[in-house]
Amino acid sequence: MQPLELDRVAGTYLGLHDLLDEPAVDQSLTEREKTLRHMARGIVAREVAPRAPELDREGKFAHESYQALASAGLGGLVFPEELGGTGDSTVAYAVVMEEIAAACGATSLVFMTQTHAAYPILVAGSEPARQQYIPSLLSGTAYGSMAITEPDAGSDVSSLRTTAVPQGGGYRLNGTKTFITTGDRADVMVCFATTDRTSRRAGVSAFVVEASWPGVTHGSPFDKLGMHGSSTAEVFFDDVAVPAANRLGDEGAGWSIVMRSVIKSRISAAAQGVGLARGAYARTLAVLRRIHGSRVPADALHELAGWRSRIAQGRLLLHAVARQVDADPGTSPGRIGLMKQACTDLGWDVALGATALLGPYGDLALFGVERCLRDARVTRIYDGTNEIQRLLISREIANVIQELP
Ligand SMILES: Cc1cc2nc3c(=O)[nH]c(=O)nc-3n(C[C@H](O)[C@H](O)[C@H](O)COP(=O)(O)OP(=O)(O)OC[C@H]3O[C@@H](n4cnc5c(N)ncnc54)[C@H](O)[C@@H]3O)c2cc1C
Repeated sequence: MQPLELDRVAGTYLGLHDLLDEPAVDQSLTEREKTLRHMARGIVAREVAPRAPELDREGKFAHESYQALASAGLGGLVFPEELGGTGDSTVAYAVVMEEIAAACGATSLVFMTQTHAAYPILVAGSEPARQQYIPSLLSGTAYGSMAITEPDAGSDVSSLRTTAVPQGGGYRLNGTKTFITTGDRADVMVCFATTDRTSRRAGVSAFVVEASWPGVTHGSPFDKLGMHGSSTAEVFFDDVAVPAANRLGDEGAGWSIVMRSVIKSRISAAAQGVGLARGAYARTLAVLRRIHGSRVPADALHELAGWRSRIAQGRLLLHAVARQVDADPGTSPGRIGLMKQACTDLGWDVALGATALLGPYGDLALFGVERCLRDARVTRIYDGTNEIQRLLISREIANVIQELP
């Protein structure tokens, strides 16, 4: 069999996704958000989808795919115009992320990491720092990373071991970060470190660090299950001199910067989940058409019916929470967690179901369904594992129970 037109032919890709949109879901989108989705769908069809199989196969960084999106002005959707963004809604960001992830999970990971690196600088950076670093991250002339995780600290950010010791009016940074997306090629990193380990969360501060500074090095990218077109690496800080002007917010403000930033990054992961579910679903329809023509067995259609409902639910939840975040940036971690775990579980469940439904065809790289499955796995791990999301949700439920008479 030939590779799916879905990855090869722009017209088929566009037509199929247009066909699969749910009017009930789209009702909540503004005209601007629909226009951006249409625009993203076109660029994805021309520039992202055709490259996706090769990036996955060869483990090539999704540079061209990401640059096409950035040069079309999609790199700064949630950033103000004066910093090179377009001042759009978080919903717009989510729907564009969905489109990218439906075609290529790895490109969506590169795309979102640029936002994740720039966003803490927007939230807590000084005006000169914002002007210096954000526009180049949004235009794609610089790559960025968000460096929190360490060999001994991931879910528990308060136990970071990377230290920032005040010295000569600035700081000296020492430590190791691991699992850092784009860490091997980032020009700019937002690095979280402790100025006082005994203070736990209150000792965490955030710094903008340039990769070219003496003492910053990185490891080779890890080989991974999925997301092959995005790199993940260790980053080492060996007595790196960081000017005080590159600290984001006050000393000790790092935890609150993490909490404000993960709102956007959990929307990114959730949008990936929805996009990967849509990608797996669309590919399954196309493969079934190839195998069965117009006589798709009823049990397969029943299975598809369940996924279609869950995808519609996931999209509604994603868009609703993104809209809520725009209305109230203080939306609770449990409410964000509801969306993050539901949408990323959706991506995994649909991709897993698709590989099962298609039997041997689901196993073939040719059709890209197994790629959706491999790419979906990590969306349940990063940006707060789904176990941590359930912990956050369960804490809120416990509080509600306490309020009951
Ligand atoms: C491909 C990839 C890209 C990544 N990109 C980045 C990046 O760009 N920047 C970055 O900083 N990090 C990144 N990460 C790291 C990721 O965010 C962490 O792996 C994740 O937060 C989990 O942290 P950990 O690895 O320390 O696991 P741990 O915190 O040690 O967790 C291990 C397991 O225990 C569970 N667990 C932990 N605590 C609890 C608890 N209290 N209750 C119940 N279960 C619990 C977790 O859910 C998990 O299943 C990336 C990871 C991967 C795989």
